[in-house]
This record gives sequence, structure tokens and C-alpha cells, in this order.
Amino acid sequence: MIHIRQEEMMKYALVTGGSRGIGRAVCRTLSGSGFYVLINYHVNLTEAEITLQQVREKGGEGEIIKFDVSSQEEVENALNGWLAKNEGKYISVLVNNAGIRKDALVMWMKNEEWSDVLNTNLNGFLYTTRLLIKDMLINKYGRIINVVSLSGVKGLPGQVNYSAAKAGVIGATKALAQEVAKKNVTVNAVAPGFIRTDMTKDLDEKELKTLIPMNRFGEPEEVAEVVGFLASEKASYITGAVINVNGGLYT
Ligand code: NAP
Repeated sequence: MIHIRQEEMMKYALVTGGSRGIGRAVCRTLSGSGFYVLINYHVNLTEAEITLQQVREKGGEGEIIKFDVSSQEEVENALNGWLAKNEGKYISVLVNNAGIRKDALVMWMKNEEWSDVLNTNLNGFLYTTRLLIKDMLINKYGRIINVVSLSGVKGLPGQVNYSAAKAGVIGATKALAQEVAKKNVTVNAVAPGFIRTDMTKDLDEKELKTLIPMNRFGEPEEVAEVVGFLASEKASYITGAVINVNGGLYT
């Protein structure tokens, strides 16, 4: 009888911004599907530890990995370090979820408000993806899921920086999907509308929900389920797609 050790069958997934909100819910979902989850965070170690605890409570396993997605150096040090320590393992699922918003009207937008949002939401996608896609291509299997936004699909006033960054990731998703499709690597985007997380806690939900056909904000789990499906083998013929999860707000 061939004995395959549990560890050899383990599938690895990296979730950037896994410490809170949508990323945390994605970590739980992927863990529930049998993934060992690498939980990335930027500043909130305590929150990342809560995510790891929730993963373990579900019977899963994972670890915390700190880096700033907007820093090429930090991304490369952390991920190359992990790969060197874990020889023979490869990360087959990458969820580019880390994101920030710094809203301002264009006429008053500061250079940093533009560049911070572009660096995190758009450049971050490049740094992680460029590094991890190599192993996916070698292994002829991979799943990349980019968490974008309604803002990137429709454009939202007051969020020209954020809309530009997310629209950039949508374009990159469609282009990269064609670049790597032959190697059985899929690249898709999920575009949430208003989801109840720290990112939206300063918004007036009572007022905004009247614009949403479903008359409520979404929950992080409702986004995570879609990410989980795209990360699975079942989503084998979906690539270059942008899936809206917005309660009917915009299609
Ligand atoms: P959130 O609750 O504010 O959490 C943001 C996450 O991103 C945290 O884990 C944070 O880490 C991490 N992060 C931020 N900057 C980072 C950096 N430079 N490097 C590494 N990690 C970083 O946000 P969320 O609502 O869950 O949003 C998740 C994604 O969904 C984002 O891409 C966001 O743009 C998108 N989205 C959200 C909504 C919504 O309504 N909530 C709608 C559309 C799209 P720390 O905990 O260490 O700060």
C-alpha cells in the first residue's frame, strides 16, 4: 500500500490581508476546503492571530506571514523566505485581497492619497503574483483570485484613486488570464459592493442600503464563498472573469 503523508497532500493558499474583514472570511473558507492557509497581514498582528485561531477552531491549519504588499522588498523577502523553508511545497492558490481606500475629491487629492492607494491595491497585485505564478506554471495548476470592487467596475465619485487601482487590477486579471490559460492557471476577480467590514464602518449604512436592491450590506462570508469556489478545482473553465457580489447594486 502506498502511504502518502498528510503533509504531502496539503494544498497551500496565500491570502493577502487575511487579518480582517473579507480576507479573514476567505481564510476560514479555504481552510474548510482543506487548504493550509498563509495569513498575510500588514500591521494588525492581534487580528491575524484571531484569524489563525478561527482556522484552527475549524480543524484547519495555517500560519501568519507579515509583509506590506506595496513593498516589493517585503513581499519578496517574506515569500522567498517561506519557499526556501518549505522546499518542495508550492502555493497553488493566491488571493490578492489586501486593500485600502483613501477617499478624496480629485481637486483636493494629495499625491500620497493617489500613490498609497495605487501602490497597495495595484502594485501589490504585481509583487505577489509575479513571484508565485512561476510555481503554478511549473506545476501546471494554479488559481489566482483578485478582490477588486464595484468602484473598479462602475467608478465611484470620491474614489477616483481607488477606482483607478481596482480597474487596473481588473484589466490585469483579464490580460494575465490569457497569458497563463494554457498552463491550467486561472485568474479571476471578485468585485464586492458594500460589505460590512472595518473598511465600510465609517459609511452610513442606513442611507446607502436604500440604493441596494437587496436593501442591505453584504457579509464577508458572502464574498468568501465565491472566492472559495474560484479557488477550487470545480472552477476549472472560468478564467478572466469578474464576478460581482453586490446585492444587485450594479451589473
Ligand atoms: P479591511 O477590513 O479594511 O481589511 C483590510 C485588510 O487588508 C487587512 O487585513 C489589512 O491588514 C490588509 N492590508 C491593508 N494594507 C495592506 C498592506 N499594505 N499589506 C498587507 N496587507 C494590507 O478591508 P475589507 O473590507 O476586508 O477589504 C478587503 C478587500 O476587499 C480590499 O481589497 C477592498 O478594497 C475590497 N473591497 C471591500 C469592500 C467592502 O465593502 N468592504 C468593497 C469592495 C471591495 P492589517 O489588519 O494588518 O491592517
